[in-house]
Amino acid sequence: MTQTMPDDLWRDFPKTATEFEARFATEEDCRAYWIEARWGGKPACARCSSTRVWTIREGTTFECSDCGHQTSLTSGTLLEKTHKPLKMWFRAIFEISTRRTGISGKDLQRIMGFGSYKTAWSWLHKLRAAMVRSMSDPLGPFVQIDEALVGGKGGPHKELVLVAAEANGRVRLAHVENNDKDTCKRFADGQIAADANVVTDGHAGYDKKSLGERPHDAIVQTKAERRESDAVQSCHWTISLLKRWLLGTHAGAVRDKHLQAYLDEFAFRHNRRKTNGVGRIAARVIERVVVHEPLPMRKLIDETRRCRWFRSTQSAPA
Ligand SMILES: [Zn+2]
Repeated sequence: MTQTMPDDLWRDFPKTATEFEARFATEEDCRAYWIEARWGGKPACARCSSTRVWTIREGTTFECSDCGHQTSLTSGTLLEKTHKPLKMWFRAIFEISTRRTGISGKDLQRIMGFGSYKTAWSWLHKLRAAMVRSMSDPLGPFVQIDEALVGGKGGPHKELVLVAAEANGRVRLAHVENNDKDTCKRFADGQIAADANVVTDGHAGYDKKSLGERPHDAIVQTKAERRESDAVQSCHWTISLLKRWLLGTHAGAVRDKHLQAYLDEFAFRHNRRKTNGVGRIAARVIERVVVHEPLPMRKLIDETRRCRWFRSTQSAPA
């Protein structure tokens, strides 16, 4: 597959709602940008990669003049089989990207004028999935790990979340069943560089078995000591921002089974908090959307299920 995304395509992306309206006024405007993002401006056959293609069906499909295969604008991407115009998707991406605190499904439903909440939900989760894709580089070289209990919907029930944070840098969050050594190990191996220096509190789940060869300081602090100099301050800071975000944007109404998707969105935003310009964030999301595999409803529901990061490794010896 050809992925020749120009490095500076995001520069062209609107930064305000007014700019957005002007830049993406028509479906054709969006299509041109999409073709630039997906194929570097030259649409290619999905079967044989030939760029000798005809435009058919009002520009939504390309027919290959070498092998006859038809490639639609969205086939093989996150938006495969969408019935809605790209213009609506661009609008949704812009709305999601420009709000510093994100957007709830209900808000998106209202803004986009969707008849059903289910549509808004699936759009939101698809775009979240695109955001998550960018989080593949492990954290390092100095990483703190801690955990938090995050409120379930309107009750005393709390969900456990593992938090890894670079000092004043990026974060990763995982919704987990428990914090035993195996779980801690999977979290560390998935998110933290093998040679990173790790700081934790005194929790017994962090040791040679879960952290491997990573240099590790387990620092047990009293409340007073922590006030003076908190050893896992980046984690504590992240947790308090996370709780505020869940309460503010989502009114705390996050279903347990979707918690991981929300954690991923929070991390995406948090890790880009120093990125200049909403246009750049929106452009990054489109970059991810064009390379993300299709996500039909069944798979979407499966992906947003509890502890998705960990299920794939459950066949490993306990
Ligand atoms: Zn072809």
